[in-house]
Amino acid sequence: MSNAQNNNIDKGSVDYHTHPMYNGRPGKQRNFSVTTLRDFAGMARKMGITHLAFTDHRFVSNLDFTPVDSVANFFQDIQLAKGLEYGYQPGKEQEVEEEISNLGLDFAIGVVQSLGNDEDIKDFKQKWSIQKVYDAYFERVRESAACGIFDVIGHMDFVKKFYKNPPVEDEFLRDLVRPVLEEIKKQGMVVEVNTGGLNTCTPSEMHPGEVILKDCFELGIPVTTGSDAHQVYRVGEYIQRAEELLSAIGYRQVAVFSERKMSFVEI
Ligand SMILES: [Zn+2]
Repeated sequence: MSNAQNNNIDKGSVDYHTHPMYNGRPGKQRNFSVTTLRDFAGMARKMGITHLAFTDHRFVSNLDFTPVDSVANFFQDIQLAKGLEYGYQPGKEQEVEEEISNLGLDFAIGVVQSLGNDEDIKDFKQKWSIQKVYDAYFERVRESAACGIFDVIGHMDFVKKFYKNPPVEDEFLRDLVRPVLEEIKKQGMVVEVNTGGLNTCTPSEMHPGEVILKDCFELGIPVTTGSDAHQVYRVGEYIQRAEELLSAIGYRQVAVFSERKMSFVEI
């Protein structure tokens, strides 16, 4: 992982989280084919995206990325990146680290979508208080950062999607998240602003929300943007809104990767 900042900063828009293979329904996996990737890249172009990453879930991904190189010939105006989204699993770090470097990925996103022994977050909702679930969730996110194998922490406050109007005070949240942000900072990682939460959270809010993003900015943590599109029509969705939010907070750049080296795009 590198903090190297490119002095030749491009201007553009970044969608660094898309799923051309997995459409979110079991058994409905698409081919990681030139056709599918062209559809995604074509929508990105329409949406004014200049940097697009294909980041399928590791559990469905075909690990042959050669179709990306073929598609790149048709989209020389868009910089394409090869990535994967890994659900963090304690104990699997070494295996995952080796895989990431062997695959020659541009970057890897680490996310937490389960707790305990790989159990669904919503199962904990029944037996634990919201404070306890949040506590366990953000501790797992901190561990996913501390293991040092990912470049980006994806949809960092994913847990909020399981609660309607989560009754969590901003100060409680900030205290919980602070050790996570400190770890991310220490590891030189990037926080993803995932616009998918605008469709799935109540209230409608990106992952992470503004309270956390302000603290990221204060700590000097770089961010990137992603739609988490599982369908073509969502590629690039709300990226402009994410850029507006980031600009209002003070960010002028978002991070992109090539062969795991970070550089920046001016928004
Ligand atoms: Zn995703």
